[in-house]
Amino acid sequence: MSAFSTTIQLIYVAAASCFVLGLHLMNNPATARRGNQVSTAGMVAAVVATLALIIHSGAITVTGWIVMAAGALVGAGVGLYSARTVQMTAMPQLVSVFNAVGGGAAALVGIHDYMSLADAGRGVPGSITVTTLLDVIIGAVTFSGSIIAAGKLQGLITSAPVTFPGSRAVNLLLAAVTLAGCGYLIATPSLPGLLVVIVAALAFGVSMVMPIGGADMPVVISLLNAFTGTAVAMAGFVIGNWALIIAGALVGASGGILTKLMADAMNRSIGNIIVGGFGTGDTSMAVLPGAGAGVRAIEADDAAIQLAYASKVIIVPGYGLAAAQAQHAVAELADLLESRGVEVSYAIHPVAGRMPGHMNVLLAEANVPYPQLKEMDEINPEFSRTDVALVIGANDVTNPAARRPGTAISGMPILDVDHAKSIIVIKRSMGHGYAGIDNELYANPKTSMYFADAKAALAGLTGAVKTLVG
Ligand code: NDP
Repeated sequence: MSAFSTTIQLIYVAAASCFVLGLHLMNNPATARRGNQVSTAGMVAAVVATLALIIHSGAITVTGWIVMAAGALVGAGVGLYSARTVQMTAMPQLVSVFNAVGGGAAALVGIHDYMSLADAGRGVPGSITVTTLLDVIIGAVTFSGSIIAAGKLQGLITSAPVTFPGSRAVNLLLAAVTLAGCGYLIATPSLPGLLVVIVAALAFGVSMVMPIGGADMPVVISLLNAFTGTAVAMAGFVIGNWALIIAGALVGASGGILTKLMADAMNRSIGNIIVGGFGTGDTSMAVLPGAGAGVRAIEADDAAIQLAYASKVIIVPGYGLAAAQAQHAVAELADLLESRGVEVSYAIHPVAGRMPGHMNVLLAEANVPYPQLKEMDEINPEFSRTDVALVIGANDVTNPAARRPGTAISGMPILDVDHAKSIIVIKRSMGHGYAGIDNELYANPKTSMYFADAKAALAGLTGAVKTLVG
């Protein structure tokens, strides 16, 4: 190995070390920013080393350089603009689009490499065919699946499960066509065969995500993220690039672990997602008996009395808190209550909000002390000893309908807010949450509804508590 290529390989190892260290630093909110910087430095080093490798090989034409520079400029410009301007609540859609782009790019690398080998007429070695197929299939499924997921999250496509009679059979058929195409290609390399595999994989991505709905999107987004990493790792094998293999494997593995954790938290099986939907939620629009009727509305003063004279309050944040950007307002109210000797903690459901860790990030922004944030398993036994559960813009994650079969969220573990002595729910209307079903918590005799925007309601509550206690 020449000194030049040894240097390049060493830079790749250094870049990979940065990725691992960066991931490790992201374990803790206090070091997460540093983790991002370390990983970015690793990626810059890997890109520079790859450019040096290309220049050294002399295999690229002037047109090639122009195309590459234009692609990099447009890609970096669009990425930078969208990342800087995206609303926190639209982050999952952006992540989904990034997954689509990553998976699609990985698939294109494989397709290009395969076409070059086939064009050269020297035949495609079996080992390349296998890695190319894995790259192209996973990349294409990720591309189309992530586009559908982004559309559902953005509300461009219905977030309810879309199924039709025989949809599972169609999924299995598409999987069979893809596998048959693979077998054919391994035996007889051919471009039309590759095209069949690509089309079947794209169709499979669509049919895999369309039946997912209700509250189950977080698991599928995480799964698609893991797919992106795996596709990138396969692209690394195809073109023999270690940095791609390691970076892709890290994303694939960490995404896989997150998917498993989220699926367990939601009481769902990953296998079920892949063959088409979760097998629950067939009645996703079921209207619960009595929901909407017998609801008790209150104003800030009534809510303030309950909170100010409570000894234990659990705050349950949800998507509405993020949408209203009310994180600082809730922290201020919690501080005020604590200064009066009220014990305050926050109940964090694993899929609250619109992205994994959404509530943690949001509350960290408002400097809520980390020990006050309690995960679902830890906080649930506490509700029965709690005077007031203050639910702010959370809906699905508190819906007792999850405990019964036949609804879009059946089987999903929820926060047991209905076990508290009293429940105050802040939201603007009787509107549904992401799963699109009524919440029977609102008709519970212990529940009072404070209809308002979360930020305005919290400001009103803080003012009312201050007035009350002088
Ligand atoms: P939900 O989506 O169930 O409910 C949010 C509630 O917030 C709505 O009912 C809405 O009611 C209320 N709301 C909206 N804006 C405001 C506002 N400005 N002020 C006050 N309230 C407001 O949220 P949850 O957090 O309970 O559950 C998350 C859901 O999203 C789950 O179903 C989850 O599966 C899904 N999901 C989660 C992802 C993740 O990774 N965490 C990703 C994708 C989906 P109203 O309009 O009446 O105000």
